[in-house]
Amino acid sequence: MNLDRFSQGLPDPAEAEVIAHCAACGGEIYAGEMVYKVDGEIVCDNWECVIGIVDPEFVPAEEAVMPA
Ligand SMILES: [Zn+2]
Repeated sequence: MNLDRFSQGLPDPAEAEVIAHCAACGGEIYAGEMVYKVDGEIVCDNWECVIGIVDPEFVPAEEAVMPA
């Protein structure tokens, strides 16, 4: 069980109802939890999951500012 800094104020996972699963990691998402919605997908509050779903390009700044 991962008791990180976000766990405070969230429902007790042992009692909270699982209402969804993260589209990226498959982790359980509980009622009362904050999640990201990306193209209708529900993603847990984990930047690695969000980045994985959004799948942005990770490029040098010089390349990013160049017109397509
Ligand atoms: Zn996730």
